[in-house]
Amino acid sequence: MSFSLLPEVRVRSVSDLSPELLKGLGVDLLILDVDNTIAPYKTLTLEKAVIDWAERVKSAGIAIYIVSNNKGERPEVFASLLGIPYIKRAGKPSPRGVRQALRAAGVPPENAALAGDQIYTDTIAANLAGVHMLLVEPIKFTNPFLAIRYFFELPFRRERKNRSKK
Ligand SMILES: [Mg+2]
Repeated sequence: MSFSLLPEVRVRSVSDLSPELLKGLGVDLLILDVDNTIAPYKTLTLEKAVIDWAERVKSAGIAIYIVSNNKGERPEVFASLLGIPYIKRAGKPSPRGVRQALRAAGVPPENAALAGDQIYTDTIAANLAGVHMLLVEPIKFTNPFLAIRYFFELPFRRERKNRSKK
């Protein structure tokens, strides 16, 4: 897989990543970012839509693994809510955490995808690890510095057609 900052798929929310879409890409393992991908910063709960979506994905035989840079309790809390394993302090854009999840799940990179909201951490980590990148719109812009970074990422975001339904 060649290095690119362009995600393969762009959706509005993780719940747009249907089992059909994932199966179509050959994905057996979905690696999930936490902050602003499955929940806004600071919250310790997940929306029911996210929990239901994760159940549908798992029922389709696709494993889910949280790989988060978060150093706090959120990765563990969400992993336990979703009944999935997790890695925190993953150090993305380093591919270390993604590779650790691949090894733990016994899935080759071409059959794995990373769903995340950030080009400069998630997309780079996905590329370095050789997994598919699925870009999710960030849930909330709470941090002004992040808002600035998203602005600089816009050319990469626009390049990819939005695959969300509706
Ligand atoms: Mg994030």
